[in-house]
Amino acid sequence: MHETALMTNLLAIVERAARDGGGGAVRVVHARIGEFAGVNVDALRFAFEALSPGTAAAGGRLECEIVPLRLRCRSCGADGPSSEFVLACGACGSTDMEIVGGREMEVDYILTDDEPPESGAGR
Ligand SMILES: [Zn+2]
Repeated sequence: MHETALMTNLLAIVERAARDGGGGAVRVVHARIGEFAGVNVDALRFAFEALSPGTAAAGGRLECEIVPLRLRCRSCGADGPSSEFVLACGACGSTDMEIVGGREMEVDYILTDDEPPESGAGR
């Protein structure tokens, strides 16, 4: 299951970020997962539970933000959510599209004990 390999990479990124951030315990790992990344979020959570003990992320929580598919028109450069590009570019009518979002799999940010929660977030 490739979520295990993804999580191994993700935890390596978290380890590095936590060390650079002062070495405090990781509270939250916020990941951005593209709608079309081919990642099963449940499997990813399971991999996090299985692999995080013993790493900087032990005891932390995995948050997954699903990023919707975005397309860009190669003719005029317009981009937007896929719902606006059902058959052709809404701006110029071209059907020459590329995917510019929705396939990512990345760590957006982590929160550790060293840092105060994001200002103004209210949580
Ligand atoms: Zn266009």
